[in-house]
Formats: sequence, structure tokens, C-alpha cells
Amino acid sequence: MRRGSNGPRVGSYNRKVVLDAVREVEGVSRVELAKRTGLTPQTVSNIVRRLIDEDLVVESGQVQGLMGKPRTLLRINEAAYHAVGVHFDPHEVTCVVVDLGGRVVARATRTPRPGSRPSSVVTLLVKAVESALGRAGLAPESVVGVGIASPGAIDAVGGEVIGPPNLPGWGRVPLRDNVAARLGLPVTLDNDATAAAMGERWVGGASRSGSFAYIYLGTGVGCGLILSDQVFRGSSGNAGELGHVSIDVRGRLCHCGNRGCLEAYISPAAIRADLGGDDLPPGGPQDWSEFARAVAAGDPRVTRAMDQAASRLADATVSLVNLLDLPRIVIGGRGLQGLAVSFSATVQARVNAHAMARGARLVEVTPTIVGENAAAIGAASLVLHSSYSPHLAALLADVP
Ligand SMILES: [Zn+2]
Repeated sequence: MRRGSNGPRVGSYNRKVVLDAVREVEGVSRVELAKRTGLTPQTVSNIVRRLIDEDLVVESGQVQGLMGKPRTLLRINEAAYHAVGVHFDPHEVTCVVVDLGGRVVARATRTPRPGSRPSSVVTLLVKAVESALGRAGLAPESVVGVGIASPGAIDAVGGEVIGPPNLPGWGRVPLRDNVAARLGLPVTLDNDATAAAMGERWVGGASRSGSFAYIYLGTGVGCGLILSDQVFRGSSGNAGELGHVSIDVRGRLCHCGNRGCLEAYISPAAIRADLGGDDLPPGGPQDWSEFARAVAAGDPRVTRAMDQAASRLADATVSLVNLLDLPRIVIGGRGLQGLAVSFSATVQARVNAHAMARGARLVEVTPTIVGENAAAIGAASLVLHSSYSPHLAALLADVP
């Protein structure tokens, strides 16, 4: 739990600390808020009054206090504002509209044609957002912004995607500004694994507090990092490239130029190639959901391939845990539902058998609680997080 500061010029930071505390505890009194945040009762009372005026927080029932005086409970007014989250995946664009509680109120998907040009993908993405907002029936003023989660490398400062997978010839594309200009809403852009981690933190509340890594298995292998309750993006927004950790320095050449990268073995395209590639019958399994169906149907070759993929993922995750001393790993990704439990079990067993600090603590490895729309919900949470959650940047911004 983050603490507030009673010093001068930290009003906006304290406001976010209080809002985050209300969000994390279902029904909390002003007295308890003061205890949890370390702020004075008077400061808490002033902040709560403003939050109620802004419709962000509502009073909701009472509970008997120890001294006999009833205490009014506070909750987030979940329907007050909404954000739009878009997962820009080269195979499918998923768009969700979520409220302040992380509840999905509308969803829309679009399928880009292979080899699409940037301008047609921007149009497709804008149409998905407009369709989802139309279904939600929301007034534009209740939408605070749009978050886009993109695979591969990004330029977080310039809001550009850089050579996204499966879209050859794209180079650098200013996706954020192009979409913002078309929609007339503020737009943020982040890596899809980072967005999924943010969504997991937001929806999971106290069960996802502290530090964890979200391993996102999609077209490639991404990893979102939440360290001490803060998202860690690295110096350019590209931290967590677990897919490009080498598991064999003399191994396969990866598209990044390095050898033996995890992604060169466990991306769906690599697994399909190992299974026989173009020799497979048309319609053979080629993404995680199809692999999962083949395993459920008892296909021994695909089952062996999935066991091997989980084992390779486990090898790389041991290095991740050794590097960051993480207590928890979350595994998710598009189409991974049928495989996430067995992947988690394999990774958890390996990490707790091989990580350096295995004698000091156990690492929990668990499937995502957010599910199929993790990256899109996470993208929406990026918008709400930047608007409402405490961050060191907010504190620093208030220092003259
Ligand atoms: Zn690589």
C-alpha cells in the first residue's frame, strides 16, 4: 500500500493515493483511509469531499465504529468515467470499453487483411473504437481516452510502433497521433505485455499488489513488469523482451539478429514450422487456441510440442526470476486459456527447483485472472491509470 505525504505541494499526488486506496478496498471509511495512507484525517476529509464533488467517489452505507459513532463507507463511482482499450494485434484488433472498476461494458473486433498498409489499419482501428462506443451508448464526455496496446517494439515518447510483426514494410508509424487525430480523444500507446500487466494489477487489486511479471504469449513472447506497484517500462518503453532471452547461444537465428531466442522456438509460427509447417494439412493448428484444441482432442504430436514449449518457457523464466527476485509470475495471452494452467504448473515447478533464492521463498506461477481481453483491458487501464493512479511522475510534477 502506498503512503501519502503530508508535506506541501503534493495535493494531486495525495488525491491519487486516496483514490487508489478507495479503489483497492471495497467500502472504506475516512478513518481507515487516513490509517492506510498516512495522511491526516483533515487532509483525507478534504480530498474525499472533492472526489465526491467530481463524482469519482460515492458514499455507500455505514458501519458501526469502535467508539460507537457510525462511519460512512466510500466506494469508487464505477460508472462515472470510461476508457477505451484497443489491442492492436496484426491478426485481430480487439476494442473494449471499460468503466472505472475494470468492467467491460462493450466490445468490438476487426480483422486486418494480411499485409495491410498503416492507413487502412488506422481506419480499421478507428471503426472498432466507434463501434464499441456506439454499443456502450456513452456520452463522449464520460470517455477519458483511448489506450492502444501493440506488440513488438514501440517508441513510447513519439507514440510510434516500429516494424510490428507480420506487417512487413511498416517501419515507424505514428499510430498514437494518427488515431488521436481521427477520434478527437487523448490516446496513449504501450507495449501489449505491459498493458496486460497493468490490466492484471488493476482488476486483481490487492491480489496483484507488489511485484510480478506478466508473461504474454501472443504472436511473440512479451513480458510486462510491475515492480513495487509501479509499471517498469525501461528507458525507451521496451523493457521485458523475454522472447529475446537466448536459451541456446548457438541455436536458431532469430528475426532480431541474435541466436537461440526463446521466441524462435515457442512463437506459434515456430511451433507450427517444427510440427511440419506447410506440409501440415490446411486448417492445421497454427495459433495458441488451435494448439489448445488439438491437445484437448488428444493429438500426441501437438501435446509433445506444447510440453516442450512450456519447458523452454520455464528455462527462460528461471533467469527472469533470478534477475528480479519476483514472488509471482502471471501467464496469459490471446488464445492461451486451454494451455495456461499446464504452462503455469511447468514453469512454477522449474522456477522453484532451479532459481538461486529457492531456499528463501517460493514463486507462485498462475494463469491470468483477466482472460482473453487482457491486453485490451490493460490498454484501457493505462488511460485510467495515468488519470487516476499515483505515480512517482505525479509527485515530481508537483515539485516546483
Ligand atoms: Zn530474438
